[in-house]
Amino acid sequence: MPSSTTELIKSKLDIVDFLRGYLNVQAAGKNFKAPCPFHKEKTPSFMISPDRQSWHCFGCGLGGDIFGFVMRYENLEFGEALRVLAEKAGVELRRLDPAEHKFTGLLYELNAKASQFFQSALKSFAGGKKYLADRGLQPETIDEFELGWAPNEVEALTTHLLRAGYAPEDIVRAGLAIKTERGMFLDRFRGRVMFPIHNHFGRVVGFTGRIFPQFETAEGMGSAKYVNSPETPIFNKSRLLYGFWKSKNPIREAGSAFLVEGQMDFLMSWQAGIKNAVASSGTALTPDHLHTLHRIAETLILSFDNDAAGSAAAERAIDLAESADFGVKIVAFETFKDPAEAAQAGANILLEAVANATPAPRFYFDKYLPKAGAFDTNKRESIKNLRIVIRKIKQISSAVEKDSWFKALAKRTGVEERVLLEEAEKVDVGRESVAKDDDAAPLPKKYSRRELLGEQLLRVAVARNDFSSVDDCMPHFAPVHRSILGILKDGKRQSADPEIDNLMNFIVLGSADLPASEVDILKSELMKEEGRDRRSELVAAVRVAEETGNEAVLKKALEELNDLSAVREA
Ligand SMILES: [Zn+2]
Repeated sequence: MPSSTTELIKSKLDIVDFLRGYLNVQAAGKNFKAPCPFHKEKTPSFMISPDRQSWHCFGCGLGGDIFGFVMRYENLEFGEALRVLAEKAGVELRRLDPAEHKFTGLLYELNAKASQFFQSALKSFAGGKKYLADRGLQPETIDEFELGWAPNEVEALTTHLLRAGYAPEDIVRAGLAIKTERGMFLDRFRGRVMFPIHNHFGRVVGFTGRIFPQFETAEGMGSAKYVNSPETPIFNKSRLLYGFWKSKNPIREAGSAFLVEGQMDFLMSWQAGIKNAVASSGTALTPDHLHTLHRIAETLILSFDNDAAGSAAAERAIDLAESADFGVKIVAFETFKDPAEAAQAGANILLEAVANATPAPRFYFDKYLPKAGAFDTNKRESIKNLRIVIRKIKQISSAVEKDSWFKALAKRTGVEERVLLEEAEKVDVGRESVAKDDDAAPLPKKYSRRELLGEQLLRVAVARNDFSSVDDCMPHFAPVHRSILGILKDGKRQSADPEIDNLMNFIVLGSADLPASEVDILKSELMKEEGRDRRSELVAAVRVAEETGNEAVLKKALEELNDLSAVREA
């Protein structure tokens, strides 16, 4: 990607204004601050620099520019982030980069065209409209989520797209057509009610097609009940959440998300007034889905189909979500199959069920333990089940919550809490865990004391906007700080070297003045550290010179070592 494109986009978007759309940004002197969206915190340590058009979090060590923010926050690849930001900045990518346009731009275009085609086909198909109405969907919901109809013909969409001038290979690449062995192009979706899948910014990137009942058993039709678009460069199933483009803000506001299994569950929940809903469509819940949600929600309310498969899926999702540090609640239906059915019976039924969702440990109590007072410690089966529940509680990451659930478990089983805790010590949690923000918050690199001292001195200089005050440190700074001081003295705040730029980010955003007496201590410590570093370099040089018999080098190194010792002893 030519860097001129990214520079052009950056010049048109102000990072502070942009981040206001995501975070609660407050002024902090020349800079701005906000609570970090990438780690949990109460006092903001996420700093934004309008000068540098960059951000840095002093809590978790992450930082970067507007692209880095969008990629991390929205879970996007660079190419996707580029499209999103280009659109926001009003920069047309097609003209800037034909290759990029050919690669992903066409896929967006084709999916959008297909969605329009399916929508207008539904408008003229009474049977399809009746089917959706029978399932409880209102016309406004159908319009809002752009549901459609794929005619029961071999190549209706393909012909439409070919006529519009698209190449057959691109239609296949977009996942809309299939090429047969004999080289014919067939529509992937035929005789199906179409649910377009939007990415988190509201662009159609794929579809789920549900077979129309009257074709369900018809000869020659693919008998699959659901057909999904294949993965493409713009459609990543394990990351996309259905409905998230609409429910992002309601989820952020509620601090919780109602996670359902299918598109119908989502649409019916939305229609019933549950706007913080989202669905993991066409795939099981993944750690990536959870990462996306965890940035804006602390609580997950899970709902799964009321059958054995649904119960197993629920258990897996609970474990995954709890190890990712969500508070988890479960909505279980006794008489309805799923949230869609409950909502169809009455919006209030679903609203009440969600409001009365059961905390996850309670769900396990009910699944594995008899009612209070009926627990029998003499049965092997009960002990086995008790251990399962203990293991589940042990997985909760909040210690406070864990403690209160052990108390509740003691009450439920009549087994003393002390004994339960003892048992918990023995139970092995061997779980499939979501590494807690492992990739989101890499451990900051270890810095030497000399580097830390240099950094602090540079922060003081930036705060005072007086770089001559650290001129005397120049020979003692670590090489990277020498370069940074040079750049800062030139009046610049950026470096083309990403590693240096990253450190500058840290220094500029962390600028802080100190009293002169402390600055003097820092300086003398820096000199000592530099002396120590130089000494170990010389000792190593002496060893090499001795081994290789290089007398000139040996002599020079020994002399310098002597000088260093003289300075130290003076
Ligand atoms: Zn952070």
